[in-house]
Amino acid sequence: MAEEDFDRAVGYADTALELLKRSGIPPYPQFYELLFTYATGVNPTLNQHLNSLFRSGTAFSEAAAQSLYNEFLKANVQDRMSSVSERMNERIDAMHLAIETAMNTAHAYSGSLESVTDDLENDASESALKALAARLLAETRHMQDTNTELERKLESSRDDIASLQRDLDDVRRESLLDPLTKIANRKRFEQELANAIETAEGGGAPFCLMLSDIDHFKTFNDNFGHQTGDQVLRLVAMTLKSNIRSNDLAARFGGEEFAAILPSTNLIGATIVAENIRRAVHAKELLKRSTNEKLGRITASFGIAEYRLGETAAALIERADRCLYAAKSAGRNKVISETDLPSAESASAA
Ligand code: GH3
Ligand code: MG
Ligand code: MG
Repeated sequence: MAEEDFDRAVGYADTALELLKRSGIPPYPQFYELLFTYATGVNPTLNQHLNSLFRSGTAFSEAAAQSLYNEFLKANVQDRMSSVSERMNERIDAMHLAIETAMNTAHAYSGSLESVTDDLENDASESALKALAARLLAETRHMQDTNTELERKLESSRDDIASLQRDLDDVRRESLLDPLTKIANRKRFEQELANAIETAEGGGAPFCLMLSDIDHFKTFNDNFGHQTGDQVLRLVAMTLKSNIRSNDLAARFGGEEFAAILPSTNLIGATIVAENIRRAVHAKELLKRSTNEKLGRITASFGIAEYRLGETAAALIERADRCLYAAKSAGRNKVISETDLPSAESASAA
């Protein structure tokens, strides 16, 4: 490494440590990596986030550092999944090898026992017996050593496998989360919708599906930038989540579209929930974090459909989407359920 590269790296390290110390954040590897990356400036988006945080005067907390680390630096789910499966394969290979060695030794041992029986039949003199006893003892010791070694390897594998299982659980959980908003992603939504349908078909109470779409979001992005748009998506996701019950599911359905599955809820109940969310979204006055610039308000439109026995997930989504479309046509910032649709449209959906 050239001397100037070395000096530059030391400079980044100093800056990273200084920033961590100033904010009272422990220099654990992930936080150090975050601030080191900041110091290098190679990731402009990360730097924008951190700069606006530093400028805003709000405390830079360990939680904020962790969330930035997760967003910008932690390897993505696919990378982590393949690393876990690679380590899993290595472990399995090592276990196979250890078991094979132990089996070979056991096989050789039983071979020795057989030959001892043959030898005994041929020559049972004292000296022959002594020699046989010595041979057996040596073979037994070897067998014991191999078993001890196998036990040690199995024990260390057991610990490794437990840690791999924890990693796998983390990865599995994350693979069902939307990285931007941290609520359920489309995949999780589809799984939960299939579960809800199964429950309803099995005699459970009916449930409702709510679809929602932010109004004129393209204009918002055009006016204030995609990053500010992303913050708004996070805000809407949180508003959605905080206005539903813990056994309801809030998910990001697509770009600026959200969905909620509301178990044991009829159209009237679901309309009340959606109205609450609609009002809560509208009530938020948006401020740009970095400059405190007022960005006005945003609104969202909502469509609600109740599951009908025998229908597919796609048919239910289609009906909720038709209500959402009707809410858009009716001027946006509205909740429309199937009972609000003109009866012809309702009937054609049946
Ligand atoms: P409408 O009221 O009819 O829904 O109008 P709209 O502008 O919201 O709808 P349109 O479908 O034309 O545009 C959706 C916009 O959502 C376009 C895209 O820029 C924005 N969007 C989608 N995904 C993301 C995202 O992940 N981040 C940000 N910032 N914007 C997104
Ligand atoms: Mg849309
Ligand atoms: Mg929209």
